[in-house]
Amino acid sequence: MGNIYFDICAIPLFLIILFVCYSRRMIKGNTNHLFIAVVFISLITAVADLCIEIPQGSLPMSQASRVFCNVSTYVYLIMRNATSVVLLLFLLHLTRTSFLIRNKLVKIIFSLPYAVILILLMQNPFTHNVFYVSVETGYERGPLMLVLYIVALIYGIVGFAYSIFCRRYLPLKKWLSLLSIYLLAYTAVFIQFFSPDSLLEMFFTAMGEMLVMLAVMRPEERMDSEVGMLSWASYQWDLKNILRSHEHVQIIVVLLQNGREMRNYLGDQKYNEYLSRIADVIRSIKLKHTNRAEIYFERPGTFYIITEADESLTEDAVKHLMLKVGEDVRKDTNLGVRSETRVCMIRCPEDLNKAEDIISLGHKFSNIDSREQTVAQAKDIVNAKTFAVEVHIEDILGNAIRENRIEMHYQPIYDVKSGRFCSAEALARINDPEYGLLPPGMFIPEAEAQGLIIPLGDAIMEQVFRFVSEHDLDILGLRFIEMNISVAQCMESALPEKLRALQEKYDVDPARINLEITETTYEDISKIMLENIGELIKMGYSFALDDYGTGYSNIQRVNQLPLKLVKIDKSVLDEIYTENGRTILEYTMRMMQKTGKLLVVEGAETPEVVEMLENMGCDYIQGFYFSKPLPADEFIDLIKEKNQRILQP
Ligand code: C2E
Ligand code: MG
Ligand code: MG
Repeated sequence: MGNIYFDICAIPLFLIILFVCYSRRMIKGNTNHLFIAVVFISLITAVADLCIEIPQGSLPMSQASRVFCNVSTYVYLIMRNATSVVLLLFLLHLTRTSFLIRNKLVKIIFSLPYAVILILLMQNPFTHNVFYVSVETGYERGPLMLVLYIVALIYGIVGFAYSIFCRRYLPLKKWLSLLSIYLLAYTAVFIQFFSPDSLLEMFFTAMGEMLVMLAVMRPEERMDSEVGMLSWASYQWDLKNILRSHEHVQIIVVLLQNGREMRNYLGDQKYNEYLSRIADVIRSIKLKHTNRAEIYFERPGTFYIITEADESLTEDAVKHLMLKVGEDVRKDTNLGVRSETRVCMIRCPEDLNKAEDIISLGHKFSNIDSREQTVAQAKDIVNAKTFAVEVHIEDILGNAIRENRIEMHYQPIYDVKSGRFCSAEALARINDPEYGLLPPGMFIPEAEAQGLIIPLGDAIMEQVFRFVSEHDLDILGLRFIEMNISVAQCMESALPEKLRALQEKYDVDPARINLEITETTYEDISKIMLENIGELIKMGYSFALDDYGTGYSNIQRVNQLPLKLVKIDKSVLDEIYTENGRTILEYTMRMMQKTGKLLVVEGAETPEVVEMLENMGCDYIQGFYFSKPLPADEFIDLIKEKNQRILQP
């Protein structure tokens, strides 16, 4: 009997790997399934190996032991060879190259050696030419056992060669761990060749698989264990491999638009259950060839479904799936919420062939595609200028700041009493050499998200101060220029210093500048912001609150901040055509005037609206009716023409 202690040690190792897979919920997705299959088959192999050895401990054995040993040998040989096959399949899936064996002929060639083994084992009970177990001598090899070794060698060599080839798909550490499975198995076979009694093979296999689990599968990285789906990191990783291997796939991005709100409403645990249920419904789709699509999840609420290209779902199938997601999940979970989904279908590499672009599209399609349909096709979006800009906005913005390509446009503000323009708002644009003039909606949110709002704001302040110093506002009939500053800038402790320096550099009177606080996301007004505002007011600056009636621009802020001016947002004005809307607007204006604030209404586009506002007693109006924001020189021409006509009739 061989030394069975290594086999005994291998068994708990396999069990631990399986336990980790289950406890980390590494049980969904093709690659995970195959890895679990490799480990499970190895476990059975190790157990079978033990079951062969134990009865041979005392020869001659009983008839029952002989049968037991015989059956165990069949199980061992079937499973041992299956490990090599499944391991190779695992490699192909891990590197997203399984499409290489999708062709029927390749499939046959791939499975033929294993089929030979099965046929040999099936005929063995009658011929005993593979192996034989006798009561007296125990297990003995037959002449055809050599064929089994050759087949195992073929799968082993192909697998090893393929894992070397996989280097381009894997970082060094992962790749070495993967190689270790083969290297350890070869070492064990080598040792066993010289010392047949030391049954090292399964123990070494267990160590190799353990290494692969820790370094390659990395459950904490590959899985989002809270929802039991492949993680966002896996999506990025697999996407890169898909592009490297030139695999053709379809990616379906399912965005829960109200994901954040649902999480807040349900709490983390229930929200995770809800997401898992959605994933179950998505998983229930039947594909033609393979069993399942891979599903990845990104917080707070985006699913990525990847199918092979010839499994592509049609737009109708996706719409149907979304309906099913809506209905089934609502019925099953009974949580009283409804997800609002938007979907984008991407063919890769036909629509996009760079991982960053595909990732960006997944993040931004709902902003870019304004048509509001449930299912968007990437091919309809990716050629639009807005997409290219959205994808490259970080670079565009960084370059624009560095190369001084921030351009200010000015939009006049009309004074109802005097009938002329009394001030103007400075509005930033990027003048990009490739994409032309870009509006702030495209880069201000990005600047705020990327921590670039401060350098961007600095460039804007410089431009506005220069503009004010280059023109005599009195002669033009303008009292001040309104400059937008975001809350992040207001919180910068160096802001007063920066403005003081600009004031001196350009010799500008602070009374000529009104700072418009533009922000929607900050809930609290911080102490440093209030201190800054206090200091700036002392220096002679005045403040306006922008976009009143939206987001956090509310009564509380009007009350808390020392404001000279409040700007009512266009969305409030747009309600002017309804009785209620008119009442709200009128009383908002009264309230501001009563509390001593000047009032600008933004977004007046037609003469009727302007007339209605004038009749309501509005102080100042800004809108396309008077002028769009204009480049500095055109703006000056407009002001000269309009104001001088009124000043010198
Ligand atoms: P905002 O400060 O509320 O600026 C008014 C926006 O409304 C401008 O859009 C202006 O072009 C637009 N607008 C004015 N009249 C009308 C109208 O009659 N109809 C319509 N449909 N729109 C009108 P713009 O220039 O695209 O700016 C958008 C936002 O970007 C600004 O809203 C402001 O929040 C931000 N922004 C612009 N420049 C700067 C800046 O220099 N710094 C910061 N922090 N934010 C800026
Ligand atoms: Mg503004
Ligand atoms: Mg505004």
